[in-house]
Amino acid sequence: MAIWQREILTFTLLFFAVCIIGLFTKLFLPLLFGLLVFTLYRHLYEINRLEKWLRTGAQGNYPKSSGVWEEVYYHVYRIKKNNKRRKKKLGKMVDQFRQSTEALPDAAVVINDTDEIEWANKAAREILGLRPADKGQRVQNLIRFPEFIHYLKSKQYDEPVILSSPLNDKMTLAVRIINYGAGLRLLLAQDVTQLKQMERMRKDFVANVSHELRTPLTVMRGYLETLQDMNEEMSPLFTHSINNMLGQTDRMQHLVDDLLLLARLETKSKKHEIVDIPALLMQICNENEASFNAGRIELILDSQAMLLCEEHELHSAFANLLSNALKYSFEDTQVKIRWHQTDNAILLDVIDEGEGIASGDISRVTERFYRVEAKRVHKINGTGLGLAIVKHVLMRHDGQLVIRSELGKGSCFQCVFPLKRLAIKKNYSHEDG
Ligand code: ADP
Repeated sequence: MAIWQREILTFTLLFFAVCIIGLFTKLFLPLLFGLLVFTLYRHLYEINRLEKWLRTGAQGNYPKSSGVWEEVYYHVYRIKKNNKRRKKKLGKMVDQFRQSTEALPDAAVVINDTDEIEWANKAAREILGLRPADKGQRVQNLIRFPEFIHYLKSKQYDEPVILSSPLNDKMTLAVRIINYGAGLRLLLAQDVTQLKQMERMRKDFVANVSHELRTPLTVMRGYLETLQDMNEEMSPLFTHSINNMLGQTDRMQHLVDDLLLLARLETKSKKHEIVDIPALLMQICNENEASFNAGRIELILDSQAMLLCEEHELHSAFANLLSNALKYSFEDTQVKIRWHQTDNAILLDVIDEGEGIASGDISRVTERFYRVEAKRVHKINGTGLGLAIVKHVLMRHDGQLVIRSELGKGSCFQCVFPLKRLAIKKNYSHEDG
């Protein structure tokens, strides 16, 4: 039987006892009144004891009681004990979390929705120079680099921002912000000095080696061309070998040129001028018409937009796309180049009806040295660096390369430029194309 049922039963039995005794003694009303006063007093007394016990923090064991009140005390006591246990466990977890974040080699700072510092670990003090007293300060007042302030305000935290440490300008940091919880953000700063140094060394090494290879290659090529001119006096085997060697030096020269261009794209500062893109495209088409079948290229100038860009870089990118389109399609097919504009972008489409690229390879063709292994009748020469150059050039112009392709049907390489790159609109007529 539940405790409250027992309580009601006791009261009912007492009530019947009062009724019977009252009937015999004719003191029914005074006895009933006495029973009610007793019951009321008992409950008021227990309420008072409970309130007193709770007021003093419900410390220690609960007061001895009976009936339903014993049960009430027991439940309150149990809830309190569970909470205490849970609090202890949580406290332990928070301590462990604090200890682990303190031991992190990366700086970790919690900032709230008004950019104020809520908490920072030990590394944040060593790398970013934050002090315990900086709690509550706005983070941009302490890390004052314009790149960081722009990054913080942009709310685009997909990529980290590279800064030097406010304490030591020789230390390079990759700072990243992660959104979590209600308005809270975690700022992580990692020391990437060594990584950046190695990257710089790699770039310098490639640039230096490529540069040093240029002279011997030019000399070799010169001698080979002289030998080729003496063709009549040589045996066919010798002529074949010379031609082969010339082909290989050509390949090597292309590779060196592409590597040097990539190295320059990675290190050179950006310089922008107004470039007449329709004129540039016409020039590229003319250059390619000479080496490929005349009439294969169709230039469509739906826009006369000029861009704020680096002409030499865009020339390399567009020429690479066009020569790929011509190289990787049959000689009797057309290649279309379309310069056009939408409400939010300026676009160059290079469309071919060539061999296409398998969907699994599309995301990889812009990697350095990646070439799709295809069964072709004739070997197509290439360095595997062309699309890497295109991607890099577009990135330097806030643009993007979108590749759509279907095996056996053809490809569309689309260069997407944001409208902020638009210089001025030239009054161009279609006949100019
Ligand atoms: P490559 O010097 O080999 O042409 P790229 O970086 O320009 O180097 O291209 C990488 C690979 O992507 C190529 O080897 C080729 O397999 C593929 N590719 C590039 N453009 C096209 C295209 N228009 N059609 C089909 N495949 C292409």
